[in-house]
Amino acid sequence: MTTQTPIKPDIAVAPVEHFIDGAYTPGAGERFETLNPATNRAITTVAAGTAEDIDRAVRAARRAFDEGPWPRMTARERGVYLRRVGDLIMTYADELARLETLDSGVPLKQTSTALIPRAAENFYFFAEEARRLREAIYPVEGEFLNYTTRYPVGVAGLITPWNAPFMLETWKIAPCLAAGDTCVLKPAEWSPLSANFLGRIMQEAGLPEGVFNVVQGVGEVAGAALVAHPGVQLISFTGETSTGQEIMRNAATTLKRTSMELGGKSPIVVFPDADLDRALDAAVFGVYSLNGERCTASSRLILHASIYDDFTARLTERVKRIRMGDPFDLATEVGPLIHPTHKERVLGYLEIGRQEGARLAAGGDSIPGPGNYVEPTLFLDVRNDMRIAQEEIFGPVLTVIPFSDEAEAVRIANDVRYGLAAYVWTNDIKRGHRVASSLQSGMVWVNSQNVRDLRTPFGGAKDSGIGREGGEHSFHFYSETRTIHVALGEHRITKFGA
Ligand code: NAD
Repeated sequence: MTTQTPIKPDIAVAPVEHFIDGAYTPGAGERFETLNPATNRAITTVAAGTAEDIDRAVRAARRAFDEGPWPRMTARERGVYLRRVGDLIMTYADELARLETLDSGVPLKQTSTALIPRAAENFYFFAEEARRLREAIYPVEGEFLNYTTRYPVGVAGLITPWNAPFMLETWKIAPCLAAGDTCVLKPAEWSPLSANFLGRIMQEAGLPEGVFNVVQGVGEVAGAALVAHPGVQLISFTGETSTGQEIMRNAATTLKRTSMELGGKSPIVVFPDADLDRALDAAVFGVYSLNGERCTASSRLILHASIYDDFTARLTERVKRIRMGDPFDLATEVGPLIHPTHKERVLGYLEIGRQEGARLAAGGDSIPGPGNYVEPTLFLDVRNDMRIAQEEIFGPVLTVIPFSDEAEAVRIANDVRYGLAAYVWTNDIKRGHRVASSLQSGMVWVNSQNVRDLRTPFGGAKDSGIGREGGEHSFHFYSETRTIHVALGEHRITKFGA
């Protein structure tokens, strides 16, 4: 295999500041370093946002909402800006993909061909979707006409994780702005670079000042201050379930509307009648892409006993051949994990899997030397009550659990606290639909890898989240519904005091 390294990873990156009221601005607090996951050397320093920085950003967003043009524009007018943002993301796509790979360790092949173009698509899509929204009419027997309209809510706090950062940030920013809200983004502290670049894009797109703001920094400080701020009406959060619980508790004091996209431990169920070659491709890609740091990762393979030996033999071969290495090498399939702390956490689970008695068929260790490299790992003969089958590892680790009949497959798939995604492979059309509708999961794919149409609702069941975003569902969150009741005739009004 010939490999090529087209871009030097040691890009010089300027110190990262906050972006408030249309300008980059130094923070009131200390600074921290963001690390290159492939070397663990510092890339640059980042302003650690304080409650004071959050307050400045929320005031700017508030002003832009209360006094500025943004919420008063038509969806069509806002769409012009949003499409410009999409175009600028594509103009800077190479630079953005390199920054994202440098900061997150996700291979350049995946950032450049999938994550960055999807971020542009988020803006193109929601620019259009905002104009396609339909409202409800309730005619009341000729007496009244009741109907609904939507209006922007106010200032949104957007809090995002470090996996696929740019794609997930834009998944919130685009519908938020399309709905006419203004926002303060608090990106994850382990991946601040691409969000930082967005400020420049918003400036070039000519967005009115204060509509889009970024405060960098640590979750417990900057994130918590954003959640507590009385000037913020909405919190859209993506991250760990325990953080989501904490945010909901804190948001209750100021009665914020919250959207929670949380953790996952998603099953992929493979029946013997499936197209096993494609099921194998999907099972491998579904868990090892994005370095396994993927909320919808198919991390529990539930495999029929009659195909277990053959399928796992082929699976083991494939996992052993996955190319792990320099994320800037275009042949690399799995890169380093985001951070040394996360690497230790994933390695901890590999040890737990060994102790629980699962059979280690591939990987199982880290790679000596710099960087947070953990081998693509495969555990066979896993029991569903093992911790490695129940807890979100968020790394390149697949657990395989055998089953003997459909009812058992469904029971195992559902016997977990999470319910984000699920995947079913069978060529029996009745079984495909039947199993899909038995799974306690926000999203199910049948004979498919995780391909998403942005119109469909995205979100999790059980401990994987509350609420749905995507398509019109994003606007249910980012806008307020108003019901207007119009009397068409002379309905009876009781005359008190007459
Ligand atoms: P995390 O919960 O540690 O952090 C997410 C964000 O929350 C960060 O910006 C962090 O700074 C901030 N934060 C932390 N504590 C906070 C607090 N008290 N108040 C306000 N903000 C706070 O998650 P992570 O480790 O960055 O991301 C990985 C997790 O995200 C995994 O569980 C993964 O499944 C989940 N995830 C879910 C989806 C989805 O759509 N359901 C998508 C991607 C990732």
